[in-house]
Amino acid sequence: PTEQAHSTPLLIKNLLLSGVRYEASQEIVYRDISRYDYATFNQRICRLANALTQAGVKAGDTVAVLDWDSHRYLECMFAIPMIGAVLHTVNVRLSPEQIVYTMNHADDIMVLVNSEFLPLYQAIEPQLTTVTSTILLTDGEDKAAELRGFAGEYEQLLAAADSTYEFADFDENSVATTFYTTGTTGNPKGVYFTHRQLVLHTLTQAGMLNGLGHEQLLSNRDVYMPITPMFHVHAWGMPYTATMLGVKQVYPGRYDPELLVKLIQQEQVTYSHCVPTILQMLLNAKAAEGHDFGGMKIIIGGSALTRGLYKTAGARGIRLSGAYGMSETCPLISAGYNNLQIEAGSEEEQITYKIKAGVPVPLVEARIMDTEGHFLPHDGHTQGELVLRAPWLTQGYFKEPEKSRELWEHGWMHTGDVATIDPTGSIDIRDRIKDVIKTGGEWLSSLELESLISLHPAIRDVAVVGVPDPRWDERPFALVVVAAGQEMDARRLAEHLQPFVDDGRINKWAVPTQIAVIDEIPKTSVGKLDKKRIRVEIADWLEQ
Ligand code: ADP
Repeated sequence: PTEQAHSTPLLIKNLLLSGVRYEASQEIVYRDISRYDYATFNQRICRLANALTQAGVKAGDTVAVLDWDSHRYLECMFAIPMIGAVLHTVNVRLSPEQIVYTMNHADDIMVLVNSEFLPLYQAIEPQLTTVTSTILLTDGEDKAAELRGFAGEYEQLLAAADSTYEFADFDENSVATTFYTTGTTGNPKGVYFTHRQLVLHTLTQAGMLNGLGHEQLLSNRDVYMPITPMFHVHAWGMPYTATMLGVKQVYPGRYDPELLVKLIQQEQVTYSHCVPTILQMLLNAKAAEGHDFGGMKIIIGGSALTRGLYKTAGARGIRLSGAYGMSETCPLISAGYNNLQIEAGSEEEQITYKIKAGVPVPLVEARIMDTEGHFLPHDGHTQGELVLRAPWLTQGYFKEPEKSRELWEHGWMHTGDVATIDPTGSIDIRDRIKDVIKTGGEWLSSLELESLISLHPAIRDVAVVGVPDPRWDERPFALVVVAAGQEMDARRLAEHLQPFVDDGRINKWAVPTQIAVIDEIPKTSVGKLDKKRIRVEIADWLEQ
């Protein structure tokens, strides 16, 4: 017991302090609207903590934020958990009904809402059952709003509050953040993370970004800007890591591709992370025409990184690497990694390993399991469900005991992804269990097919799903978006894929005989291929 009395809890406040210590004059930038240094950032977090406390927020309360990526959101990521409250990062791209569901389910008592969302928010406010007070976030002149229990406008509250705050120690196992999975079926599910989990996640992420391989991805000589929304798995926890290291940070507000590119150019952003769709959007922006990104480093996760995108981005001066994770995993699980042996090999092989889900980071255990709970061999070709153990996985779904039990069946967290693991430990995500295409008695990976199709120079975007087939059970159906002035049909696609059939990468049943050229592929609220809607569109297409 005496030893325990001296143990230091792992708390988010400690991540903030080291950044300030190293680089007090380093900047936090918000669009082309405001900038301040880490010393001010630290004071603003104290002011926010005072303002929240005065407004009645207590330890254990849940506070919701509805905002685009901003310096204020960053301050909330610290101040709210640092006073012992829980930050609910509301996914503003969900439908209004789903937003109401998540806010009531999370028991949010206070809401910080960006003025841009006021029409939406005021429409749903009558249905919110637990919210008692609100704070307005705005870049505009109007500092008042008709809102339930209106406590004031953020900047005015901060200006009036004291700039110091003694953050108390408390149990490191206190919940710090919560948010809801985008839920392709049924109601969104709430995941939650403790201080201890977020601190361990941050330390490991920093180690991974700095120490693995020949490439340092993020140091405090870099400039960081997220292009994964802060409401989506806390922008992959990267703001915590950047803050701990004292990195210059740029927050772009709502994702407008032209502004994103301008900020990258003006603020000399060197490091970011996003899903493939957002990178495509960035590369296609007008402001990016003819622009060389000068070696900017971007981590791609959330969906598979295709070889085609890796090469396209490389030609524009962007160095990509793949990573894997999900809402339930905080999210970091693994990252593409070239060990010394691979580094000595061919360039193509190096790319293969760079774009994979990669090798589990320290403290993560990854296995593959069959449906009965038996482990399968890590031989690089046996497929099974990827299951995980790590210190920062959600312990369940909030108030969903049955779904939590399923998530953690056999004592491992089930990802719902089909994967192989090779003898070097490298994970290859083959597909989501529900998206895998069963054809001719084999499991065909829609992801692999999408990756190979993406290599065709005329193809801008692609999604493959299985459609029922009387003879083969299912056959792949490809939806493609084609570059302006180009043509695509099943014959051209088959010619493109034939070399991969010849070299055994895919079998001949994998070549889609049905394809449709469309203007835009349906995406989810966070920019991933929305396979559920894609299936509905294809079913309509087939009926015509
Ligand atoms: P949602 O399920 O709402 O999309 P997540 O953002 O948690 O929410 O998505 C996690 C899923 O994204 C994973 O289970 C996996 O299917 C997919 N994914 C993430 N990273 C990769 C990757 N590097 N390669 C392939 N799939 C990935």
